[in-house]
Amino acid sequence: MAKRIETTCIQGGYVPGNGEPRQIPIIQSTTFKYDTSEDMGKLFDLEASGYFYSRLQNPTCDYVAAKLAELEGGTAAMLTSSGQAANFFAIFNIATAGDHVVSSSTIYGGTYNLFAVTMKKMGIDFTFVDPDCTPEELDAAFQDNTKALFGETIANPALTVLDFDKFAAAAHKHGVPLIVDNTFATPVNCRPFEWGADIVTHSTTKYLDGHGSAVGGAIVDSGKFDWNKYADKFPGLTTPDESYHGVTYTERFGLAGAYITKATVQLMRDFGCVQSPQSAYYLNLGIESLPVRMARHCENGLKVAQFLESSDKVEWVNYAGLPGNKYYDRAQKYMPNGTCGVVSFGVKGGKAAAEKFMKALKVAAIETHVADARTCCLNPATSTHRQLSEEELVAAGVPANLVRYSCGLENADDLIEDLKQALDTI
Ligand SMILES: *Cc1c(COP(=O)(O)O)cnc(C)c1O
Repeated sequence: MAKRIETTCIQGGYVPGNGEPRQIPIIQSTTFKYDTSEDMGKLFDLEASGYFYSRLQNPTCDYVAAKLAELEGGTAAMLTSSGQAANFFAIFNIATAGDHVVSSSTIYGGTYNLFAVTMKKMGIDFTFVDPDCTPEELDAAFQDNTKALFGETIANPALTVLDFDKFAAAAHKHGVPLIVDNTFATPVNCRPFEWGADIVTHSTTKYLDGHGSAVGGAIVDSGKFDWNKYADKFPGLTTPDESYHGVTYTERFGLAGAYITKATVQLMRDFGCVQSPQSAYYLNLGIESLPVRMARHCENGLKVAQFLESSDKVEWVNYAGLPGNKYYDRAQKYMPNGTCGVVSFGVKGGKAAAEKFMKALKVAAIETHVADARTCCLNPATSTHRQLSEEELVAAGVPANLVRYSCGLENADDLIEDLKQALDTI
């Protein structure tokens, strides 16, 4: 029976047997016991499935990964230690030194750094494109050695909304997968595979966990990208892996399992960016209430955006759920039930006014975080981007007066009263 997303959030991934725990067990064990070396050998040869060491796989993490695969409508998934690790693995699993990747330019700052600085040092080149460029401009960014196209459903912090049709068409025309970071929308509000994405990543640290409890990440594969059709582009998946007994991932695990199996047995084996079973348990608790929480985050987001739009102390408001926003129509198409709870806006009076306003807030806290139960905000010009000049801030798309405000689950009237009294101080 096909389940609706609210049911999958509660019951997906883990199905207890008769007399077994109702809630997922936390298997807090590094290792697993076997009766014979032969039994264990079969696991190492990938001839039998089972657990042997928690750096590769752990049952608690696998329950939660299976739930995420169901939620996104994918065939396989894995948890990682953070969103950074998820995006690194997602690309490094199919691109290596000498390869090239096209990415939207409006992505999370940490991801931009990972791509533009650290992965570049590893020999992988990135071309960044304005996500609202023409199809021709996007097309022109691809090279013979391009291995993937990357973007964010709703970009953090720019809040641009991805044109899935344009991005999927470009990726598939060039025979590469579209990888989408779906952190801000979550599978409750957007399911990228239904719009042509091939691989989805998450910083589970944000809404999926939702309570600011555990840093984590995830990768989900749709199983739809045909690695065999472009075998010469993706030899890591379609030719024998000498570091793993000559296994050919697409042959042994099919399109449904090749990508995640390779990322697990190669990248997790060698880099070890595992999520702990305890963190996976917190993540699962968060996912259980995700649909209820996302509805409230979006409701608060819209109310706050509407209030800010009506304030004469505010220069501009950016929220894709707000009628009149540049991305409103696109958001309605890809996220008809709502976008997220993060709103950005510019206060009149520049950086000094933004600083004074934020100091006066009593309900919202100043934090380098977004997307959880507690409302928080940040002025990049005086924190994460404080080394940049006014001109550099504008070029980076974060004007000095920009405040990123992440609506939590509190009562919207309290948030608005708090915003009002703080705006009155400037
Ligand atoms: C936070 C974030 C990341 C990085 O995730 P961590 O869990 O902090 O490593 C990646 N992508 C997006 C969109 C994010 O918001």
